[in-house]
Amino acid sequence: MLNWLPRPKHAAAARRDIPAGLWVKCPRCANLVYRKELERGLRVCPRCGFHHRLSAQDRLALVLDRGSFVETDGDLEPQDPLGFVDEQPYPARVAEYRRRTGQAEAIVTGTGTVEGARAVVGAMEFGFMGGSLGSVVGEKIARSADRARDHRWPLVLFVASGGARMQEGTLSLLQMAKTSVAVARLADAGVALVTVLCDPTTGGVAASFAFQGDIIIAEPGALIGFAGPRVIEQTIRQKLPDGFQTAEFLLQHGFLDAVVPRAELRATLGRILRLANAPADPGAAGTGAQGWGEPTDRADEPPPA
Ligand SMILES: [Zn+2]
Repeated sequence: MLNWLPRPKHAAAARRDIPAGLWVKCPRCANLVYRKELERGLRVCPRCGFHHRLSAQDRLALVLDRGSFVETDGDLEPQDPLGFVDEQPYPARVAEYRRRTGQAEAIVTGTGTVEGARAVVGAMEFGFMGGSLGSVVGEKIARSADRARDHRWPLVLFVASGGARMQEGTLSLLQMAKTSVAVARLADAGVALVTVLCDPTTGGVAASFAFQGDIIIAEPGALIGFAGPRVIEQTIRQKLPDGFQTAEFLLQHGFLDAVVPRAELRATLGRILRLANAPADPGAAGTGAQGWGEPTDRADEPPPA
């Protein structure tokens, strides 16, 4: 197209000299950022502070103590009860995203430590079918909640999802109830749930465990909401305010506890986990050294020496 126009010389030179993928265009400020500089800065734009999305693997590497992560339930595979075919059969789509992301499903779960404090963790992979909540994602979250309850370690979930996985139909919607119940049982047991809402946190995930955290943190600029703004405007027949469904707007309106820049996320979580009294030594569990909001009269006791 338009190849009858003389091409500016500098453009041709630039195209020859810059290997593909060396620069990343920031979607907010439109500046070109050197990829390595972006990676060094935790994928936060050095010009405007825009938080680019992180993979589940990068997210866990950012937050957890090096070498502390032990993956759990990595072998769960989705079924295809509907024999669902859109542009391609569902199993083929799953296989393709496995190749593309190197992850088996849209969430990676396990255990690890943050600044020495133990936690059960889960990080959603938005690159895997939009981080959609299917039966495997739901099951892994429910099992993580159960594991957190058994160990009495806080559960930290990094959320990034477009919503339910339509290829699994109703089974996908059921995961909202399943995860909600699992984290409610965690709350009943007095074990903390910390959710970190990353860009984007929408649909069925926003409507279930994401907003059930005892502490709900979000990353700056993250899109957070249930339905898209156009659907809401058409339904309520009103214009939505500026910045609607951003982390900052939600903080202002009392939906979040904090918006934490990525560079401070690890230290913030470390502080929260220590407050939640996660025993660093698993052997200490059950000795009374734990208990986030646990029904207790220990407040009257002198602090341990
Ligand atoms: Zn930028």
